[in-house]
Amino acid sequence: MNLHKIAQSLKREVKGSINVSESMSQHTTWRIGGPADIFFTPIDWEDLAKALKFANFEKLPITIIGGGSNLLVKDEGIRGLVINICGLKKLKINGEEVSAQGGVKLPYLASQVALKGLTGLEFAAGIPGTVGGAIVMNAGAHGSSMSDVIVSVVALDYRGRLCHYNTRDLGFTYRSSKLKSDKWIVIESNLKLQLGNPVEIKNKIKENLAFRKANQPWEYPNAGSVFKNPPGDSAGRLIETVGAKGWQIGGVEVSHKHANFFVNMKGASCRDVLALIEKVQREVYQKFNILLEPEILVLGG
Ligand SMILES: Cc1cc2nc3c(=O)[nH]c(=O)nc-3n(C[C@H](O)[C@H](O)[C@H](O)COP(=O)(O)OP(=O)(O)OC[C@H]3O[C@@H](n4cnc5c(N)ncnc54)[C@H](O)[C@@H]3O)c2cc1C
Repeated sequence: MNLHKIAQSLKREVKGSINVSESMSQHTTWRIGGPADIFFTPIDWEDLAKALKFANFEKLPITIIGGGSNLLVKDEGIRGLVINICGLKKLKINGEEVSAQGGVKLPYLASQVALKGLTGLEFAAGIPGTVGGAIVMNAGAHGSSMSDVIVSVVALDYRGRLCHYNTRDLGFTYRSSKLKSDKWIVIESNLKLQLGNPVEIKNKIKENLAFRKANQPWEYPNAGSVFKNPPGDSAGRLIETVGAKGWQIGGVEVSHKHANFFVNMKGASCRDVLALIEKVQREVYQKFNILLEPEILVLGG
């Protein structure tokens, strides 16, 4: 397959930026991942729809990414077309109703609604993903999650067809939603927040961010929690109990600060992370008979 030729044909159809053999380590918070064949950032949803139609016509596999903050990309990279939704970043705030495109960064959204005195998104201020990624993953913290604030979603399927989802159709569960398996692309979301006390909102955000700074290893590249919490327990507690803090394979280490965070100390590969995931799973299973399920998603290969 001549990637440059395909990229040139795509360039004639769309307005967004296109890169060939783009290193995915530049687009993941773990700073890990081999090259994406063709990396496209649409400027609006029509641009995205055109790229989807092009990929279908050319029979290119399609991969969607947002902030790359929950992703482990294989060292071999990703074949086909990788679409970065971060270009869709329009935000409208009208009273208590908020509409945010899929590529709006969650911390930005949380700070903008806080400035308008709207409460409900204080939990999201420290989650470094996009609105689309957060809806798909039903991201959450401090006892709240996206499912508490989302009213509806406008999505495209991989053929470029539009669809509207209401909250009940989204099938939100712990760190998941129906969009994850159905492969719909979030282009826009409507959120319902409430008017609150601006000082209290600001203080809550400050408190949440301070908690993260004290308890999470922000100093090194990572992808947040590696494993989901098993029912009634915490993955971090289980990992810490088997003595895994500080375990290292290649360039990746189980954080000393939070055992459910694996940090890229220096030049870690996807292979290193997968090997450490397996080792930790094995040890926790042997001691507690609990199989930890990864929260992070592996792409490519
Ligand atoms: C330091 C740190 C702290 C974190 N803390 C938390 C936390 O407190 N709580 C929490 O839940 N998570 C946390 N995370 C994980 C991560 O930020 C969330 O899962 C986030 O919602 C992922 O969003 P993203 O845009 O980065 O998605 P990506 O990682 O880019 O993608 C995740 C999945 O969503 C899909 N996707 C992305 N955008 C779209 C879209 N527009 N439409 C359809 N599918 C899409 C991708 O295909 C992929 O399957 C943390 C991560 C880091 C690095």
